[in-house]
Amino acid sequence: MKCTNCGQENRSALKFCKKCGLDLTLPPAWFPDWRWHIKTLSWIYLVLIALFFALSYILHKLPPPYAQRRIPDEMTPWLNPHKVPAK
Ligand SMILES: [Zn+2]
Repeated sequence: MKCTNCGQENRSALKFCKKCGLDLTLPPAWFPDWRWHIKTLSWIYLVLIALFFALSYILHKLPPPYAQRRIPDEMTPWLNPHKVPAK
């Protein structure tokens, strides 16, 4: 890469010209400002919130889980010790 100031041929890995010291690094083509960050972050959060509600809605539309049958009291006497059925 040739220095634009003095014409010295420099290795492309160099950050400064070895002859005149000119900064050879290219400035970024676009640097986002705080407004861009706020806009982008708010979009990300809005999408996440919308996804959460959409997913929650879809999950609530699903049928309930397998109906839990009531376990007979005879099988769990420790859960209600004062209502043990007579033998
Ligand atoms: Zn130079």
